[in-house]
Amino acid sequence: MSRYDSSCIFCKIAAGHIPASVVYRNDHVLAFRDLNPVAPTHVLIIPIEHIPSLSNLAAGDEEVAGQILMAARTVAGMTGVLDSGYRLVFNNGPDALQSVGHIHAHLIGGKSMGWPPFAGHEVIHG
Ligand code: 5GP
Ligand code: ZN
Repeated sequence: MSRYDSSCIFCKIAAGHIPASVVYRNDHVLAFRDLNPVAPTHVLIIPIEHIPSLSNLAAGDEEVAGQILMAARTVAGMTGVLDSGYRLVFNNGPDALQSVGHIHAHLIGGKSMGWPPFAGHEVIHG
């Protein structure tokens, strides 16, 4: 089964209709450099098929979910951050500032980072 959303920018990148700096690809996932990198290594890892967010993962998506993590390890090795360290971030939904509605893991590395990840924008609900 293949899911494609013609209005989705990451579906268009996966289909090759919009250019991207591709780092890694297999039958399940695509990894390409973020257009606006926040660190020396900033790669997005997406499923080839359109899944809007982690919240939309369903039974049957185990393979593609695992493929994203395995690709992250591969990309970390390819970009030289395997030992220095890296962060894998899935922004999911409005509070997390997800701006593209197609699952993507940000693989970020090549610099030391702070924790926690929010930077003064907190709005506490309730
Ligand atoms: P989000 O905010 O949804 O977690 O992350 C979306 C990311 O996609 C952002 O870091 C943004 O820079 C990146 N992005 C948005 N449009 C494009 C694009 O057309 N090409 C590439 N390579 N990255 C994009
Ligand atoms: Zn999509």
